[in-house]
Amino acid sequence: MALVSSAELITQAQREHYAIGAFNIENMEMAQAVIAAGTELRSPLLFQTTPGTLKYADPRMFYAIVKTLADEAPIPVALHLDHGDSFARSCEAIRAGYTSIMIDGSKLPFEENIALTKRVVEVASSSNIPVEGELGTIGGKEDSHEVKDKDALYTNVDQAEEFVDRTGCSFLAVAIGTAHGFYKGTPKLDFVRIEQIAKRVSVPLVLHGGSGIPDEDVQHAIRLGMSKVNFATELRWYFTQACRKVLTDGEIFDPKKYGSAGRDAVRDFVKQKIVVCGSGGKA
Ligand SMILES: [Zn+2]
Repeated sequence: MALVSSAELITQAQREHYAIGAFNIENMEMAQAVIAAGTELRSPLLFQTTPGTLKYADPRMFYAIVKTLADEAPIPVALHLDHGDSFARSCEAIRAGYTSIMIDGSKLPFEENIALTKRVVEVASSSNIPVEGELGTIGGKEDSHEVKDKDALYTNVDQAEEFVDRTGCSFLAVAIGTAHGFYKGTPKLDFVRIEQIAKRVSVPLVLHGGSGIPDEDVQHAIRLGMSKVNFATELRWYFTQACRKVLTDGEIFDPKKYGSAGRDAVRDFVKQKIVVCGSGGKA
């Protein structure tokens, strides 16, 4: 199948009350792992890369990898810019062939966040590319940006409605107590807030910081209206742990040896999360 717009996948998930897993990839092996998991479970899915990853390698490279995998796979997939940090970066990803964009203006004042998001929506919509906006601040570390817990502001319900109306964004990432990176202690999700936002906002909601949230909490959040769930930290962790284990043998120097171990570990993790999201068999 070809790469598709994420809107098709996420809107169907919203209608049928499951979620699309969005998996951050850093290299070819992680991309192969994600497609293998999705193919095995017949699940639609999203690949995504952060700006940090795109500084490591050009978006055209990730596009080429994901497009090659998508063309040969029996499942629909989309390629998404995660936490787009500027108008220019969003345009760069669109030019490279990305089929889904997030612009993260959540660190800006409300009006400036609206203005930036709206500008990206205007450009992306001319190519039929959906845009995810973010309101409120998700804690922890995403890329190089660190949000201290005390600064982490939950999404305001009234503002969420106004934000979606005025920006025309296709999906909304909300801050409801999740964080990026690994959690210290068990995270407390604000389920009441998810429900309130979902009642007021018609677009699908996005749960960030999916790594380390207990599976039952993720599923509860999905039942309340989350239609896209992001997983990043754990993919990196499983990949590296598996490589490290192989590399304890000092004789091994072939990247294919440890790369394939990392790939298998990520595939198994992604399969588990597809089951949690309930998207298996939906492709
Ligand atoms: Zn995020």
